[in-house]
This record gives sequence, C-alpha cells and structure tokens, in this order.
Amino acid sequence: MSEHTILCGSCQSPAKTVANPEPYDKVICPDCGREDRFDDVMGSVQKYVTDAVAKSLNDTLAKAVRSSKFLKVEKKYRPQSSYRWITTELGI
Ligand SMILES: [Zn+2]
Repeated sequence: MSEHTILCGSCQSPAKTVANPEPYDKVICPDCGREDRFDDVMGSVQKYVTDAVAKSLNDTLAKAVRSSKFLKVEKKYRPQSSYRWITTELGI
C-alpha cells in the first residue's frame, strides 16, 4: 500500500499518522479519536479494498451476462456493515 489515503471507517475523516509509518506506529482519527496500530489499520483497509473489488467484479460480470440465457451470476456479495478503516482510492 503506497500513497493511499486512509479514512476512518466511522466518520470518513482522513486519518493522521507519521510519514512512512512502521507497523507499530499509531494511526489516529482526529474526529472520533479511533486509534489503531498501522499494521492493523492496513489489514482493515485491505479487507475493505478486497471486498470493494469483489463487488465491482461481481457487478461487471452480472451486467455482462444479463442478456445471456446460459449464464447467470448469483448475487453472492454481501458487504460487511462496517470497517474500522477504509480508503477512497481503490484503484478500480
Ligand atoms: Zn473517526
């Protein structure tokens, strides 16, 4: 994960952290005070991105085969209701 902006999953405020954070550095939401280690934050962001990409692919596939008699895409994607940390830059 390079230059992605980390946002608080609760208030969508840009998180504050040091430049070039180490895994044990703190990431803090300036609005609600949510605070986690950088490696935990990255885990949450990665889960969010993975789910968002899966949803995007599923939507694209569903659209592509909509008129097909032979193919069917099940709506299997169920988003998690909340993430502790998210990002605006999904790269999709
Ligand atoms: Zn917050």
